[in-house]
Amino acid sequence: MAITDKIYVKNHRQLSSQLDTSFPKSAFAGATLDLLFTGNSLANLDSTTQDRVLDFAEDFLDCDCEAHPYCGCAERKFIQYLLELRAQGFCPDAIVDVMGDDYMLYAYSGDILSFLDQSVRTLEAAEALAQTEAGVDRSQELHDAKRELTNG
Ligand SMILES: [Zn+2]
Repeated sequence: MAITDKIYVKNHRQLSSQLDTSFPKSAFAGATLDLLFTGNSLANLDSTTQDRVLDFAEDFLDCDCEAHPYCGCAERKFIQYLLELRAQGFCPDAIVDVMGDDYMLYAYSGDILSFLDQSVRTLEAAEALAQTEAGVDRSQELHDAKRELTNG
């Protein structure tokens, strides 16, 4: 399962009742993207929630793909967001706090931790490959990326 399958909408029950309909807890589920983030439900939400929902839509759902919002851009951008937070030195618990403040989302810090571990391992594999194939340039770049993720 991708990490984006394990990102949930905070206050899910409360939002369902404000919208007077149920939707999946998972933030990146198709029905959630449709209903909460691209539908016409904004007006029914309280203003704090509206702000967070709009921020999420602006930051992750701003592409023009034909398959929008099912094109995968939102998931890719969110993964980038997580990696950037890690590179800034946030630990998994802090990352969960930040996504709550930014977008009213939550995840289990254990899931974030395994995602980051997995990312580092992927980078290590890429680094090893770059050393054998493309020489040192790319390898140094990957090495730096890995160090950013493992710092702190
Ligand atoms: Zn897209």
